[in-house]
Amino acid sequence: MAIASINPTTGETLKTFDALTAKQIDEKLQLAADTFRTYRRTPFAERTRMMQRAAEILETRKQEFGKVMTTEMGKPLKAAVSEAEKCAWVCRYYAETAPQHLADDVVETNARKSYVRFQPLGPVLAVMPWNFPFWQVFRFAAPALMAGNVGLLKHASNVPQCALAIEEIFRDAGFPAGAFQTLLIGSDAVEGILNDHRVVAATLTGSEPAGRSVASIAGNQIKKTVLELGGSDPFIVMPSANLDEAVTTAVKARTINNGQSCIAAKRFIIATEIYEEFERRFVNEMRALRIGDPMEESTDIGPLATPQIVNDLECQVKRAVATGARVLTGGTKIDRPGNFFEPTILVDLDLNAPVSCEEIFGPVAMLFRALNIDEAIKIANVTPFGLGSAAWTNDAKEQAQFIDQLEAGAVFINGMVASDPRLPFGGVKSSGYGRELAEFGIREFVNIKTVWIGAADHTDNADKTD
Ligand code: NAP
Repeated sequence: MAIASINPTTGETLKTFDALTAKQIDEKLQLAADTFRTYRRTPFAERTRMMQRAAEILETRKQEFGKVMTTEMGKPLKAAVSEAEKCAWVCRYYAETAPQHLADDVVETNARKSYVRFQPLGPVLAVMPWNFPFWQVFRFAAPALMAGNVGLLKHASNVPQCALAIEEIFRDAGFPAGAFQTLLIGSDAVEGILNDHRVVAATLTGSEPAGRSVASIAGNQIKKTVLELGGSDPFIVMPSANLDEAVTTAVKARTINNGQSCIAAKRFIIATEIYEEFERRFVNEMRALRIGDPMEESTDIGPLATPQIVNDLECQVKRAVATGARVLTGGTKIDRPGNFFEPTILVDLDLNAPVSCEEIFGPVAMLFRALNIDEAIKIANVTPFGLGSAAWTNDAKEQAQFIDQLEAGAVFINGMVASDPRLPFGGVKSSGYGRELAEFGIREFVNIKTVWIGAADHTDNADKTD
């Protein structure tokens, strides 16, 4: 597949890149392996200093990085600049907390002393998507590098300039050249890298088929993987909810990142008592969104990242209509240059139609009516995905039931699902496994080593950290 930056607002090809040759890939893997041998011994204080420097670079140059993101994948510039700021946050978070998260964990047993030590694994391959082209990478890289691993990035083929900019940030922050390397390669080169003995683990954020492929190749090699895959998140609104806030948040939760977020709310499940009112207000607010050039401050929704996504969306809307759904607003691509699609609302969906529980990756919302909380939860859980979920209610009993029964990696009550460096992030079911962020994220790519020291005198210094 061609590695090319194509501006989704204009269709203009900005830059193309040759994929690395087999020899170049080999050299980079060797550099990663060689760097790991020394980098793993760097004290936390040194890693912290470099990670803080990476945060400073992100903050100082956020406008520039924002423009690179927007011109490659179309998100509104204001959101792209915020994304660079959020990356600085995760760098600082792990710079400050990694020493605690990875400190020896003493456990009382029958030994003179026993504890758990967390040690880095080695070069980790990160296969990443284009939708949050900086954030997805930094939330892997900041904990991985703070833990003493080294990273190899295979970014999505449509965001090569983002991939190169990230490599440059880590280099400019003082990390050795082999600590974080971008591999400009197509997905066809991933298998060979996963099979290479120098790569010890992998993380993939992306679609279910890509996750399946990477996990099975890595599994065959007995290499650890973390998978952050798709979602079809429910957004449930019960009668006691604050409707003003719920509707405004629903629009934002569906259209954030031009609708291309794994944790975007995709299925809106509304209690029958408030359904008509919710639907009326939701339609009005979706229609009021400003679609246009993502470089403009006033733009709410820019183009989708690729023409393929526009085609996929149109196809999903047509399939929904073919199984009885009605289009309340939108429904087609917009007749102008670039990959623009109308904010769309579908109602009267057949719950048994495949499209009702698929991931819809664009500004298309599906509305469902629920007779009661049990039915709302049933509709919410019908999808094979289990990433995020949101429930709006001011009834404490209902809140407890949602928290307990929604099948998802996260439940947000009276709010929209979002990632935060301090909270774990990940899914269940077909949304993947493993966690990113918080202490759970930094402990994914470490050897959790049990240390047990008996009573003999000569073991006195055996537990010294090197
Ligand atoms: P994608 O097509 O799966 O691509 C993601 C990455 O995987 C890209 O780098 C891609 O490379 C690579 N890839 C694709 N097929 C592969 C294969 N068979 N073997 C190895 N690598 C492969 O997904 P996308 O369309 O870019 O991203 C959207 C998806 O990501 C959505 O499903 C979304 O929900 C999910 N996502 C999940 C999270 C989360 O945290 N759970 C966050 C963001 C996005 P090429 O570009 O070269 O094909």
